[in-house]
Amino acid sequence: MTCRLCGREIDEGAYCPRHGVAYTNLEEGYQKWRHALGLSWVQYLERLDKVAGTGKLVKEIIADILG
Ligand SMILES: [Zn+2]
Repeated sequence: MTCRLCGREIDEGAYCPRHGVAYTNLEEGYQKWRHALGLSWVQYLERLDKVAGTGKLVKEIIADILG
């Protein structure tokens, strides 16, 4: 199978290692912030997508999840 974002060959899961790391970082960030900000997963993603410092890989993941 291939990564659904970049088409790289992968053994399992939905994402390649690079996008997988970005996804894990997103999830860990959410665990940290959801109590402080009181945001749902989707609200968190939408907010992060607007932040200038958010990386390209992370934005690709966000677009995939929200899309
Ligand atoms: Zn990928």
